[in-house]
Amino acid sequence: MDLKQRYERVKAGLPGHVKLVAVSKLRSVEEIQALYDLGHRAFGENYAQELREKQQVLPIDIEWHFIGHLQRSNAKHVVGSSMIHGVDSEKLLDELDKRADQVRITPASVLLQVHIAQEETKHGFDASELQAVFDRSDPKTRWPNLAIRGLMGMATNTEDRDLVRAEFARLAWLFRSLKTRAGVRFDVLSMGMSDDADLAVAEGSTLVRIGTAIFGPRPKG
Ligand SMILES: *Cc1c(COP(=O)(O)O)cnc(C)c1O
Repeated sequence: MDLKQRYERVKAGLPGHVKLVAVSKLRSVEEIQALYDLGHRAFGENYAQELREKQQVLPIDIEWHFIGHLQRSNAKHVVGSSMIHGVDSEKLLDELDKRADQVRITPASVLLQVHIAQEETKHGFDASELQAVFDRSDPKTRWPNLAIRGLMGMATNTEDRDLVRAEFARLAWLFRSLKTRAGVRFDVLSMGMSDDADLAVAEGSTLVRIGTAIFGPRPKG
């Protein structure tokens, strides 16, 4: 299969309301341009430096999603992205709020990452921690330059599909329970990658982040 066939197969497998972000980390500018030429506009990058380099040479109407683990020192570099998915601490929210204000990209759209996997290596708020953040203060008052648009999570990397599905179900439950407090614009649930997008969509994902199934096996970083 070539890029076009893989892309069309991925799209055909997604319901119309689910947004597709093509994960282009470690892919060349030419590969991204090729998918752009097929009409795709939303791309996801994991590394701040790589994102910046690609942004400078690729078309201006690309919608960039920052999906990697974000260090506070890099907040200023990614604050102009269309959406920042991996926000996993209040300190990072503080920093992004400050940077958004400085560069007048306000509100900047962010998703809060929740730790749902069994691996300790994955990042994110614990569910209880996140509820406490909302209990303590109104996010709109505390971070006026940010629009908290929803949640993001990554399931355990395992063959056990029941476990993956249960983790997504838990995240979807948390999303719905926070939504009633966070308001109408809290409408993005970013979950699902090449191997588990079907399960994520079945549990209510509104946005999937897919790399390998579109571009083929990823080059080593
Ligand atoms: C790399 C990556 C993806 C895409 O993974 P694939 O298995 O290639 O689809 C999705 N989300 C995040 C956060 C990633 O780092």
